[in-house]
Amino acid sequence: MTLVDRFLEYVKFDTQSDELTNMTPSTPGQMIFAQHLEKELHKLGLSDISLDENGYLMATLPGNISDRKVPVVGFIAHLDTSPDMSGRHVSPRIVENYPGGDIVLNATDGITLSPEEFPELLNYVGQDLIVTDGNTLLGADDKAGIAEIITAVDYLMKHPEIKHGDIRIAFNPDEEIGLGAHKFDVARFGADWAYTMDGGEIGELEFENFNAAVATVTFKGRNVHPGYAKHKMINSMRIANQFVIMLPRWETPEHTEGF
Ligand SMILES: [Zn+2]
Repeated sequence: MTLVDRFLEYVKFDTQSDELTNMTPSTPGQMIFAQHLEKELHKLGLSDISLDENGYLMATLPGNISDRKVPVVGFIAHLDTSPDMSGRHVSPRIVENYPGGDIVLNATDGITLSPEEFPELLNYVGQDLIVTDGNTLLGADDKAGIAEIITAVDYLMKHPEIKHGDIRIAFNPDEEIGLGAHKFDVARFGADWAYTMDGGEIGELEFENFNAAVATVTFKGRNVHPGYAKHKMINSMRIANQFVIMLPRWETPEHTEGF
């Protein structure tokens, strides 16, 4: 199976995560997809394949170097897609040899992908692009990562002349809701170091990250009839606004870069 065939098969699985279920995986579709991948890894003939109750799927491609010890390298990708937009009934389409300019995703609904809004599109003129009909996510984040990793280990198995140590692979749920690493069993994975294959430009290597921690601040007011409100009513919305305005205006993600 080619990389693209794999990818087009994977995007059929609805694996949107959900911030509100308090379960791992947060949605059943992720486990269904993990079980599908588990079968595929068995068919490919990988070793130590294990899928735990939380939806973390791991496997090994044994090394083929016997005369010396080499480190175990890991590759990781996530099963879920963003809760922000539907991942159900994804209908992908391949735009062959992209000539530049607008791509009409959906003429009926008037949805267009334009370099005016996404100038990086122009980096891919002349290439084949996979797009949706504009009403769902494509799910390339991160099914592209999964397709890349499985296709790479498939290739390495068929090409034993390429020498490598043990390679561990892992697919985890709920990255998009900040819980991907939550129940990741590092000891069970057992890699000396690992790389996450995730959305990004070709050739990009990220080696640091921002802190995506969340704080929940609750403002409590006091409800008083407006006719008798003076010195008594406390409007929680006004206090919340005051709080937001107190945060340094130029120290936000949209106004900063570097460190
Ligand atoms: Zn991702």
